[in-house]
Amino acid sequence: MIKNPVPWPNGARCAVTFTWDMDADSMLHLTHPNDADTRISTNSMLKYGPLIAVERIVDMLDELGIKNTFFVPGWCAERYPQAVKMILKGGHEVAHHGYLHEYPNMMTRDQELYWTKRGIDSLATITGKRPRGYRAPWYRFSKHSLEILLGEGFTYDCSLMGDDNPHLIRCSKGDLIELPGSIQLDDWPQYVHNPDVDYMMSIMPPRHAKEVYMAEFEAKWQYNGFWVNCFHPFVSGQLARLMAVKEMILEMKAKGGVWFATGEQVAAHTRKLIDAGTYQPRVDDLPYYTGRIPEFPASYMPAG
Ligand SMILES: [Zn+2]
Repeated sequence: MIKNPVPWPNGARCAVTFTWDMDADSMLHLTHPNDADTRISTNSMLKYGPLIAVERIVDMLDELGIKNTFFVPGWCAERYPQAVKMILKGGHEVAHHGYLHEYPNMMTRDQELYWTKRGIDSLATITGKRPRGYRAPWYRFSKHSLEILLGEGFTYDCSLMGDDNPHLIRCSKGDLIELPGSIQLDDWPQYVHNPDVDYMMSIMPPRHAKEVYMAEFEAKWQYNGFWVNCFHPFVSGQLARLMAVKEMILEMKAKGGVWFATGEQVAAHTRKLIDAGTYQPRVDDLPYYTGRIPEFPASYMPAG
């Protein structure tokens, strides 16, 4: 069913990249700048990520022998350097996720460039290495993001959802490997219920969430695809949920033929095949649109 699958290393059936967005309380300060300090319970819920869950996740990954990618806003790295040190000590990838979890597609190009550089500087100072991968905060990749990422030496993006396979996103300045995700592999719809972050979902039992995630895995395994999730330490790092994550990884390992890799590794592998001429990726030209489409008259206003 997947046309043009990427040939995975050692004949693996599929590639699996576990990613964690360590947002901590950045988004609360961003969305409620004047009174985030008074929302102490939500602050505590979000701080659970770097203060409690990250160590537990890293320990679990060490036990299972796989490396993951952690997307970390620069402000969170500055605020919670011990969590970042634990991630690095475990041999995992630290990638870029904005500075204060800002909204890239609501900024000018210069504003986005400023915050992207500030995020890079924070991560480079704390990790000793410039980040190579990027996921836009809130998935809000902008019309300028690709050009900015190319200018700052990134090798891949992990914000879009337009394919089952790694592919290329391209603009006039060049192209970048896209590692496409899907909203069904994000843990917010399964678990997050909190009015301060404007997200009120019916909380699902971990076995239900696991079923959603594993259905995607089974399909990607069968058709040689790429599985990448978007979990959050404060969400899926809680005990019962992390037990389900561990079960998932064990089941994937037991099935066999799975290449567990970081985002950086999958991007490097795909780029190498492209450069060697052994894989021709699909190319997505960005931006999709530069403004309002002309088919609707200027007088047209959406209902509501
Ligand atoms: Zn995030």
